[in-house]
Amino acid sequence: MSRVLKSPGQMVRAVVDDLVTTFFPADCRVCGGPLTGAGLSPLCTRCLDDLRTQEAELCVRCGEALDLDGLRFRQQVEGQGVLCGPCRMAPPPFERAAAWGVYADGMREMIQMLKYEHMDTVARPLGALLARVIDAMQKEQGGQAEGMGRDLVVIAVPLFKARQRRRGYNQSVLLADEAVRGLKASEGWRLRVAHSALVRMRGTESQFGLSASARRRNLRGVFAVADPAAVSGREVLLVDDIYTTGATARECSRVLRQAGASKVWVATAARAQKETVARWSSETLSARGEAVLV
Ligand SMILES: [Zn+2]
Ligand SMILES: [Zn+2]
Repeated sequence: MSRVLKSPGQMVRAVVDDLVTTFFPADCRVCGGPLTGAGLSPLCTRCLDDLRTQEAELCVRCGEALDLDGLRFRQQVEGQGVLCGPCRMAPPPFERAAAWGVYADGMREMIQMLKYEHMDTVARPLGALLARVIDAMQKEQGGQAEGMGRDLVVIAVPLFKARQRRRGYNQSVLLADEAVRGLKASEGWRLRVAHSALVRMRGTESQFGLSASARRRNLRGVFAVADPAAVSGREVLLVDDIYTTGATARECSRVLRQAGASKVWVATAARAQKETVARWSSETLSARGEAVLV
């Protein structure tokens, strides 16, 4: 103890500071700098500002970055923009998938804390970003005849029961609820949350290293609509933490449409672009199970 204390007041303050530091680590997870303000973000303001949104040209349907490979297969759609190869060859059962940012750096850090470190408070800042991407998708699409409405049934991608019990919560439910809270603060949204309308019947193995068709087979029968009345004739907003290969979003959307949903819109906090996914599949899967889709 080399600290020199001059007054009882200072001593109390020092003890309180130590306690606060113990229970609420005050360093930014990305840069190690001090966390300013009493927010619930594990990232400092500068690192939050630095979170990367998607800069490349994106497929208007699924949000895949159109790199050189994508550009070769791209197709201009009249009045809409550009489609990637997979969306052109097998149009997804959802209208559009949008993500706030790239699954990298601070975004990846926050999603990992939410999923594997029981830090459910991270859902607050992530949910706020998700609200922004949903709002942007609506504004972009809303003007068109077949665009996105503001009267939506909101459903999070479900976890298998055993996994949810282990984790204590479904991170996508937390994100969806935060996003709904954020959107309801602005006029015009009519959002009904119906997470239990979609259920996961069993757990799934990692999707990595599987071909697109093997992935689809792996997910067959995994999701079911438990409450068709909640989605029938309605537009659904499907929420997940991260969009990886799109197999989950496609399969959930397929069963929702089959149960009568008129349209499905997909919103995720992050998007793993193709090259990242390819790298994961060739690397050893991380011990934290980062590459496991569920
Ligand atoms: Zn920082
Ligand atoms: Zn696409």
